[in-house]
Amino acid sequence: MKARGFHWSRSNGISLLVPDFFAPFGLVGGYSTRCAEDGRPLDIDLRGGKDADQVLANRRLVTDAVGVEADDVVFAQQVHGCGVALVTSAQRGRGARRHADSIPAVDGLATSSSGLPLAVMAADCPILLMSGEEGAAVAAVHSGRRGTLVDIAAAALSMLCELSVPPGDVYASIGPAIGPCCYEVGEKVRRDFETAFPWAGDLFRISAGRLFFDLPGALKRQLVDAGVSPGRIFDCGLCTVCHGDLFYSYRKEGSAAGRTAGIIAIAGRTPERSTA
Ligand SMILES: [Zn+2]
Repeated sequence: MKARGFHWSRSNGISLLVPDFFAPFGLVGGYSTRCAEDGRPLDIDLRGGKDADQVLANRRLVTDAVGVEADDVVFAQQVHGCGVALVTSAQRGRGARRHADSIPAVDGLATSSSGLPLAVMAADCPILLMSGEEGAAVAAVHSGRRGTLVDIAAAALSMLCELSVPPGDVYASIGPAIGPCCYEVGEKVRRDFETAFPWAGDLFRISAGRLFFDLPGALKRQLVDAGVSPGRIFDCGLCTVCHGDLFYSYRKEGSAAGRTAGIIAIAGRTPERSTA
């Protein structure tokens, strides 16, 4: 499955979809898939009364493939808002073992610390991974319909700006998400977006009397509006519903759907762990 601006990285039977700009900037990470090559599910979401030991084992398989320590990864609580947290080494591993320990009340994480992996989870919602040139600072953002409506992308870019990365220096990738081919919405969604964004009308299409919305397209417009160069925005264009063999889809599978992860870290030596 090809996606322009991305490549597949395979390690120990685990595949990751990796933006091409990661390696030259000294970044590690990428987007996970729903299962390993042997068919083993790779749900990485601890919420919803799942077998935590199984999910933690899945997380380890994915983080091993990325090349980071599972216990170092920082997760966001993910509340469909526009909050973005600035993460430092003091928060290393928040949410790695218990969802309740995730950084509260945010859907986006940003850091300029090296060796500090950031992760967000999704099934259908676009995950935005961003970096300054040379990996000066990075961000991971869950931008679903509600987060996109409140422009969490702009909030994340403001946070990167505070970390001395202006939008003109940002490279951004949009991971697998429900595409305009499959994302049927109600009229209220169109009204909400048209009220908030003057260009939103272009992103809705009616087919056989049904209304479809291009959510990744909205995210791209927001990035450009905020000053990111269109040539530095890479949308993998893989629809989670059309590619149900590769990704989870909340729309298709309902509340039992697992989650895949978007992970990003500035490569670097992890500070020595306390053995106490
Ligand atoms: Zn589709």
